Amino acid sequence: MTLLRIRTLPDPVLRQKAAAVAVVDAAIVQLLDDMLETMYPNQGAGLAAPQVGVSKRVVVIDVNDPPDPAHALQMVNPEILSASTELYTHNEGCLSVPDQFAPVSRPKRIRVKYLDRHGKEQILDAEDLLSICIQHEIDHLDGKVFVDHLSPLKRRMLMKRYDKRTHPRDETL
Ligand SMILES: [Zn+2]
Repeated sequence: MTLLRIRTLPDPVLRQKAAAVAVVDAAIVQLLDDMLETMYPNQGAGLAAPQVGVSKRVVVIDVNDPPDPAHALQMVNPEILSASTELYTHNEGCLSVPDQFAPVSRPKRIRVKYLDRHGKEQILDAEDLLSICIQHEIDHLDGKVFVDHLSPLKRRMLMKRYDKRTHPRDETL
């Protein structure tokens, strides 16, 4: 078990398109375990491999309240098959953009296909928070971050707050 370092903006790995996993082998299973191990103490509801510096299409999610490691989702090569036109708005945050939150609207329901930790194909119908969380994590696999969904003005305001937090000394320069 290994605690992995969480990458934050502007780390370039967060802007890369992650590679599909060819085979769910022992290394991928280990990655899934390490990502879960890393997600819980950071109080994340989801984590995508690029967020720990690994540009592969792997995500873990736990939107249970309270968190329930026995029922965490572990997805390899997740792919959205269909999405509702009805939207759901959630105040999103991200371990890669610490302490910043903003409402984002995304399809309320999705059908997603993925490989589980045994390499078996699964199809899942997700709604509300789970749907939002899966979409947020798949965005990471495509080099996208939730702030990309905001209007240019709101994104600028959020990133200004974020930069101040990351480089507080700049204020005195
Ligand atoms: Zn995120």
